[in-house]
Amino acid sequence: MQKLSKRNARLKWPKEWLGREDAQGIRRLVSSNSVATDAKERKVHSGPSGEKLAVCKGTICSPNTRPLAGHIDLDLGEDVTLKDPVKVFFVPKLAKQYNGSNLEGTKYAGKRVQFHLAFTLANGYEAYTIKLLKKYKCSKCPRMMEMTSHQGRTVCSSCKVPTTTRKGAPSASQ
Ligand SMILES: [Zn+2]
Repeated sequence: MQKLSKRNARLKWPKEWLGREDAQGIRRLVSSNSVATDAKERKVHSGPSGEKLAVCKGTICSPNTRPLAGHIDLDLGEDVTLKDPVKVFFVPKLAKQYNGSNLEGTKYAGKRVQFHLAFTLANGYEAYTIKLLKKYKCSKCPRMMEMTSHQGRTVCSSCKVPTTTRKGAPSASQ
């Protein structure tokens, strides 16, 4: 019996995490033993645990009406080997933002988010530490660009000018 309840607990909690992009092949899978999480708030502790993991991006699926069960459409980028959309489970009520609100309700459907990607036996793909993506204006043209909180810098796709998240940082063209 004890063995059985232990197995049920394992169904609920992350088994593996998607690691940083610079780790190759199978090493991109990070075992749950080495990642510290806050299970109640469904977030990864910042610091060494968060630094091991990839920061994924996606779009909150409509209608987002269930506070305990939402889905995020994972950005697949250039990977054409994946034909079907990948739906990532998340808990809108527990997705705390910097201002204290969560991601509960239809007004968050279609919103762009960043998160860490876990694999659980109960829910399949699951998102932890979900934050609304911030947009920054290109320093040269009116284009707005998404940047994750981990990124710090991006290059405009139209005028190729780098933009950093630090306001007032000197641009490379000057
Ligand atoms: Zn630009």
